[in-house]
Amino acid sequence: MKPTALLLIYLSFCSLSAQEKKVKIFDVHLHGDPKPTEQIQKLKDGGVYKVAISTSWNSQETYQSDKEIQVLQGLMLGCPNGKVPYSGQFCFDNQKDFPDVEWVEKQIQSKKIDYIGEVLSQYYGISPSDSLFYPYYKLAEKHKIPVGIHTGLAGAGHGSPNFKVSLGNPILMEDLLIEFPNLKVWIMHAGAPFLEDAIALMTYYPNVYADISVISNPYIFNPSEFRRIMNRLIDGGLEDKLMFGTDNGPIDKIIENIESLEFLTQEQKEKIYFTNAETFFSN
Ligand SMILES: [Zn+2]
Repeated sequence: MKPTALLLIYLSFCSLSAQEKKVKIFDVHLHGDPKPTEQIQKLKDGGVYKVAISTSWNSQETYQSDKEIQVLQGLMLGCPNGKVPYSGQFCFDNQKDFPDVEWVEKQIQSKKIDYIGEVLSQYYGISPSDSLFYPYYKLAEKHKIPVGIHTGLAGAGHGSPNFKVSLGNPILMEDLLIEFPNLKVWIMHAGAPFLEDAIALMTYYPNVYADISVISNPYIFNPSEFRRIMNRLIDGGLEDKLMFGTDNGPIDKIIENIESLEFLTQEQKEKIYFTNAETFFSN
């Protein structure tokens, strides 16, 4: 056999095994996109079978479960000037920053809200433990649904004039965790660069998890930085608390980035891809 023929056989074997190895993913961090059908198709192609979306209440409606993917609906709140950061759409038709609490409870009861998030406290210019959020946390605790809170930094062009870096430190969540001891909370973007504070909270409070969106996106965080963060989180014993998230980043590159971490076992990868999120979102 000619060497080129051998090479072709080898290459087709490689692509087959890559496809067979297609990972099963629960993406806990997604926002709206101008082309929702294409956006969701890309996620399905990447192996996503469940996704948690938060966007303006109106565009949220365009995201519905089908036979290939289950969609969990979030509730964005603390909208600066009533708007979703970056896209600038109004969060709600009435253009308010916060939705009516009774209305929220009705939506939870009729399964139109599966979780509270993304909580935009940092963009709004207040602490995630500000009492403005407490009526919603109270509902989430009562109905056993999780809360996802933005932490860390932000990209350019978010359009939120009261944004402050210091308000992205996850340690600010401690007061709310004490007030609502049964609330399930996840630190979006793993709190980076306030990593040690995120680790302290996750270590002490059993109901606190984190998603690794943004830090795993090689176009935002240098892969060497992602490697350092993941190494620290795994060494810190947090393999049962980390969840996969794209935050609208390129899923193929994010998976590649995770797969390149040779210190992760297959079991640890599966925990990150879906099992931890399944545990966290179950009630
Ligand atoms: Zn965020």
